[in-house]
Amino acid sequence: MNQIVENLQKIRKRIDDAATSCGRDPRSIRLVAVSKRIPLAAIEQASTAGQIVFGENYMQEAKDKIEKLKDSKIEWHFIGHIQTNKAKDAATLFDTIHTLDRLKLAKALNQYAEQSARKVSVLVQVNVGKELQKAGVLPDQAETLLKSLQDFPHLEVNGLMTMPPYKSDPEEVRPYFRRLRQLADDFAAKGFFSTPRYELSMGMSGDFEVAIEEGATLVRVGTAIFGQRPPL
Ligand SMILES: *Cc1c(COP(=O)(O)O)cnc(C)c1O
Repeated sequence: MNQIVENLQKIRKRIDDAATSCGRDPRSIRLVAVSKRIPLAAIEQASTAGQIVFGENYMQEAKDKIEKLKDSKIEWHFIGHIQTNKAKDAATLFDTIHTLDRLKLAKALNQYAEQSARKVSVLVQVNVGKELQKAGVLPDQAETLLKSLQDFPHLEVNGLMTMPPYKSDPEEVRPYFRRLRQLADDFAAKGFFSTPRYELSMGMSGDFEVAIEEGATLVRVGTAIFGQRPPL
């Protein structure tokens, strides 16, 4: 069997097992196949094998791929940093944006979503590890941002996303996933999300099982599906 298809099946099985072992419904967890720097042919193979959601990090690369694969059934998610001058592409090309982290970007996304008569699903990226080099709103500023997002009718605020500090042992990442879950529970109770069943985008190739145990609904897996990415 094709390696990508085999990897997809293995990952899906691990997702289902992780969910079942902690009493969650496996269907409540969606796999985002992270396809940054992965060639079109590999994406097509995964799509043909039934993979629906793909995550991209670089706007121009994503734009080219989306255009070329416009006849596919792919649901595109944006998971990279968004410069404000790329807000138009972000608001018009993607089903869900995982990386909303500032008011200025929210304003721009809302404006372009309105112009194209769309509602854009967004997740707020939280820098739970408070790392200087990382994007994301700081945990103690997240509530202020979420409050102001209520003013943007073309954004559907559906949950939170995080990129925790890198650790070789996934158990060491667990507290960061847990923190994101606590924040989201708090914000859900305050009515900041457009749905009570909010999304938690967390977990990558090395730690998605731990993320599922802590409540992830979207796991973003690249290397474990497509293999090592070509260097930038
Ligand atoms: C690249 C990337 C991933 C996937 O990482 P892997 O370790 O290859 O699974 C997930 N999330 C984000 C935001 C990424 O940039």
